[in-house]
Amino acid sequence: MKNLKDQTPITGFKPLEREEMRYHEYLDYWVCKCGSFEKTGGFNACTKYGNLISPIAAEYCRCERCGRVIEIKTHTIIGINENPDRGRF
Ligand SMILES: [Zn+2]
Repeated sequence: MKNLKDQTPITGFKPLEREEMRYHEYLDYWVCKCGSFEKTGGFNACTKYGNLISPIAAEYCRCERCGRVIEIKTHTIIGINENPDRGRF
């Protein structure tokens, strides 16, 4: 049996089929599949498992309304985490 301490728990993360983010019809904002965009629910910096981290150098962000995890440089939804580890963020 493997040593469980060596495994990082992936709390609540579920991978989704990769899907590119859309932009708002009139504004230069990202729009999540749930309809949230930057000025409403907003997005927070996170790890690729949706756990919240400092925005500095973050490569992923998470929709605050539905929990979808987005890869920033490709604007692609990669998964969802409805119950992330928020740390101190
Ligand atoms: Zn969303």
